[in-house]
Parts: sequence; C-alpha cells; structure tokens
Amino acid sequence: MKQTKNMNPGHQEIVMSGIRPTGFLHIGNYFGALKNYIKMQDEYECFFMIADLHSLTTHPDTKDLKPNVHRVVSEHIACGLDPEKVALYCQSHVPQTAELYLYLNMLAYKGELEKTPTFKDKVRLQPENVNAGLLTYPVLQAADIILHRAVAVPVGKDQEQHLEMARNFVKRFNHRYGEVFPEPQAFNFANALVKVPSLDGKGKMSKSENQLATIYLSDDDDLIRKKIKKAKTDSGPTEQNAPKPDYIENIFNLMKLVSSEEVVANFESAYRDCTIRYGDLKKQLGEDMVQFVRPIREKAEAIRQDEKYLKEVLAMGAEKAVKSAAATMKIVREVMGLNYFPEK
Ligand code: AMP
Repeated sequence: MKQTKNMNPGHQEIVMSGIRPTGFLHIGNYFGALKNYIKMQDEYECFFMIADLHSLTTHPDTKDLKPNVHRVVSEHIACGLDPEKVALYCQSHVPQTAELYLYLNMLAYKGELEKTPTFKDKVRLQPENVNAGLLTYPVLQAADIILHRAVAVPVGKDQEQHLEMARNFVKRFNHRYGEVFPEPQAFNFANALVKVPSLDGKGKMSKSENQLATIYLSDDDDLIRKKIKKAKTDSGPTEQNAPKPDYIENIFNLMKLVSSEEVVANFESAYRDCTIRYGDLKKQLGEDMVQFVRPIREKAEAIRQDEKYLKEVLAMGAEKAVKSAAATMKIVREVMGLNYFPEK
C-alpha cells in the first residue's frame, strides 16, 4: 500500500469515501470500508458520503431511497462513526458534484470507460438498462473524491481500479489546467485492501447479489447461524498439512475477522493434523459472528427510529461537504478560465 503524502502541511490529511444505499450493509462493507472510517475519524479530516446518485445507475426507482439512506446512515453511526467528527452526508446534497462530474467527463474517454470490469459486470447483470450513468460511474466517483481534494480513500479491494481511473483523470486535469488536485490513493490500515468473500465461495459479499451467502449487519442471530451453517465445505483434509481449498480458506478468513487469535489457531492446528470437524468450525464462526453483528444491529435499529436526528445529521454533513466543495470549485473555475464575472 502506497502511503499518502500530506498535501496540506499543517492541516489534517483529507479522506473521502462513499457507500451506495442500495441495500443493507454487510460485513464486506464493514471490513472493507467502515472499520477504516472509524479508525480514521480521529486523525484525518473525513468526508463520508451516502452515494444516492450512484445508486440510480442500478436502482432507478426512488420510492425506497429515503428510508434506505436513513438506514445506511444509522448503520454507519451504529458501527462507531461520529457525525460530529466527520462530514457524513448525502451525495445529492452537494450540487457542486454535478459540475465537477461534467468537467471530468470531458477528460474521460469512451474506450477506457467501456473497458472497466465493473461496467462490463453491470452490462451483463442489467442488459436492459445500460445507461450512460453506468458508463461514467467511475467519473462521478472521481468527482466525489477530488471535490474535497482527498488524498486517502478507504475502500475494499473491488475499488482499486476505480481509484486508478480517478488518478488518471486528476493527472489529465492538472496537466491541462494546473495543479489543483492531489492523486487519491486507496487506503487500508492493514497492509492490503480487503475483499470479504461470499459464503458460497462465488465472488464477494454484496448488498444486492448473493444475499443468502452474505452476512448483513441487520441479520438476526438465527439467520447468521443458518447462513454460516450452509457455507460450502467437504469431508475434510485427508493428508496432514494439505493446502486448503478456496471455500475452506474463505471460512478461515471470515473467522480471522471476528474470532479470537486463539480460536483461529486451534482450528488451524486441527486442520493441519486432519482432526478438524467442519461442523464445529462453522458453529464457532456462527457464534462469533452473532456476537460481532448483534450490538451493531441493535444500535442501528434504535437510531433508525429517530428520523429527526437522522435529518439533523444529514443537514450537518451537507453543510460541511458543501463548504469544502464550494472552495474547490472556486479554484477549478479559476484555473479553467471559467471566471467571467467582475472581481467582487
Ligand atoms: P458498495 O457496497 O459497492 O457501495 O461499496 C461500499 C464500500 O464497501 C466500498 O469501499 C467497497 O470497496 C466496500 N466493499 C463492498 N463489498 C465488499 C466486500 N465483499 N469486501 C470488502 N469490501 C467491500
């Protein structure tokens, strides 16, 4: 992981990241993104966004958008994010995003956007709605990040390529108009970016796909146990120190996220000497996952009931985000020469 350089000496480094309100948050969102958000909130100037505009590329029906935004905000706070310390805001509350997105679109090429693996995946998943927003998704994401001149972006491994595209747009902008933006880097406190696999071993945990193989922060205790019980295993290792098949490695990886080191070490040793019983492994993982998810779920449910508080949080976040965005756009218009009014 490349370390970030402080572009703003004497000030805190700027951090930005976002999550779409397209469904319930899951432990992939937690370990890929939110866990880092919470660690970063004391040391950095943080902008954490609910990406409601991005969600329109795949979920055009806005009927449930407001409750979904409120739920995701509740889940952020329940995980430990403090809306007083950070700007926790909704993408659509920051109109400057649309302006910067427009300028960046002139610096993004159709060919590179069409080649993006996430675009190709979406085309496969929703061939009936291949809209231009889907194609320019990484451009909007780059606008969100650089609008605050962020240097560090806590995200999961699936976002690595989008960050590379954001750096390319920044380089092109800076080259053409002048050095305005730092190059944003994907960030994780651990050395590598995280990908939390789905329980069926097919792809990653996801808000809207693979729901029976994804552990949501809203799942009740029994559902968590049931999902983990169904995770794919086999009849066990037959040779000492055998390599683990992917789906067994996945279970161990999940265990490393929520179980104690001692518990993981015991099962590792049982695997190596072929005494492991996968039923016991899954039972232990189920219990440890329940202990991890339950307090977050209960807290999020309580916060979600308080709509007045959630609206206040979003208003406070929007104010901070708009202030930062307006300052950046003033510079952007200056360097682009879009400053035709007389000086005040
Ligand atoms: P999304 O769910 O696509 O809105 O992504 C929100 C954040 O969660 C991004 O930082 C993603 O990289 C991260 N994320 C989503 N799914 C996973 C996963 N299965 N493992 C790790 N990080 C993830």
